[in-house]
Amino acid sequence: MEAVQKEYDVIIIGAGPIGLASAIEAEKNGMNYLVIEKGCLVNSIYNYPTNMTFFSTSERLEIGDVPFISHGVKPTRTEALEYYRRVKDSWKLNVNTYEKVTKVKIDSGSFNIQSDKGNYKSAYLIVATGFFDYPNLMNIPGENLDKVKHYYIEPHPYAYQDIVVIGGGNSAVDVALETYRRGANVTLVVRGGELEDNVKYWVRPDIENRISEGEIKAYFYSSVQEIKENNVIIKSSNGKVEIKNDFVLAMTGYQPDFNFLKQMGIDLGEDDKQIPAFHPENYETNINKLFLAGVVCGGMQTGKWFIENSREHAPKIFERIREYQNS
Ligand code: FAD
Repeated sequence: MEAVQKEYDVIIIGAGPIGLASAIEAEKNGMNYLVIEKGCLVNSIYNYPTNMTFFSTSERLEIGDVPFISHGVKPTRTEALEYYRRVKDSWKLNVNTYEKVTKVKIDSGSFNIQSDKGNYKSAYLIVATGFFDYPNLMNIPGENLDKVKHYYIEPHPYAYQDIVVIGGGNSAVDVALETYRRGANVTLVVRGGELEDNVKYWVRPDIENRISEGEIKAYFYSSVQEIKENNVIIKSSNGKVEIKNDFVLAMTGYQPDFNFLKQMGIDLGEDDKQIPAFHPENYETNINKLFLAGVVCGGMQTGKWFIENSREHAPKIFERIREYQNS
């Protein structure tokens, strides 16, 4: 017997900040909707480093006119978790957590959405699945060892250990400084000749001074070539270097679930950026009534969209949905 299929005007996949912003717009437009989230509410933020501070000030992370008051100028991860939970509660948003969407089929102009818990049908579909579930792999020998981490939670496990941090962006810099201050012996390996331009301006002097004082050893124009149980081989501008190592923190970035997007029939750009096809004004993809929202829009350009500049996706998507309804 076919499983019962629940019907909605709009299904939103992902309960990150932008999925929630989309749900608020559905509420405002009086539409029958459901958000389906595979983890907890704002699952990506939950999985950020415990002591993480946003680079945005709190008012720039606000959605649905709910004020975000933080203790410092920049809110913390814990404050953001509290805030987005409050948003969900004050708007009484309809969110199913711990339910993963596994397949989307398009059938006579509507969407059939299958999850690991049920089947749904909707007239409109908004995909707000972010990019935090798939780390960019280095594809080097030893990358699958347990000591190699693509996600960083907190510094304590790395105290008194020889650690290699890979990357030159904000995540790598934060990890290098935080673990150094908790007693780790830190080596930073950066592919380019310098740290990335977008490193937070209030953090940059700290990392640069730690490097110039020799407290954090840095290899520029370098890459990790192989990871062994007790050592790491670095290909540096001065040749190969083998150093003692207990843990590797590969802060090499993340990417959207491209297979999921392709499975739905969304076209992806053919170059390395793999930017999905969407209308720049209303975020509708090459498939009618299927929209992308939030950071998933950037493909491999994961720095292009963030909460600040992608929360506006939601109202624009609903302008387009209203056009459909009025036509
Ligand atoms: P996400 O928050 O990633 O939400 C996507 C959701 O979709 C997730 O909860 C995921 O579990 C769910 N999902 C994925 N696949 C499925 C599926 N198949 N079925 C069901 N659910 C699914 N931005 C700022 O504006 N300011 C900042 O200061 C800032 N600091 C940042 C610091 C760090 C360390 C990082 C990594 C990012 C930062 N960002 C910042 C970026 C910002 O956090 C993200 O842009 C934001 O989380 C994106 O929101 P989103 O809703 O598009 O995606």
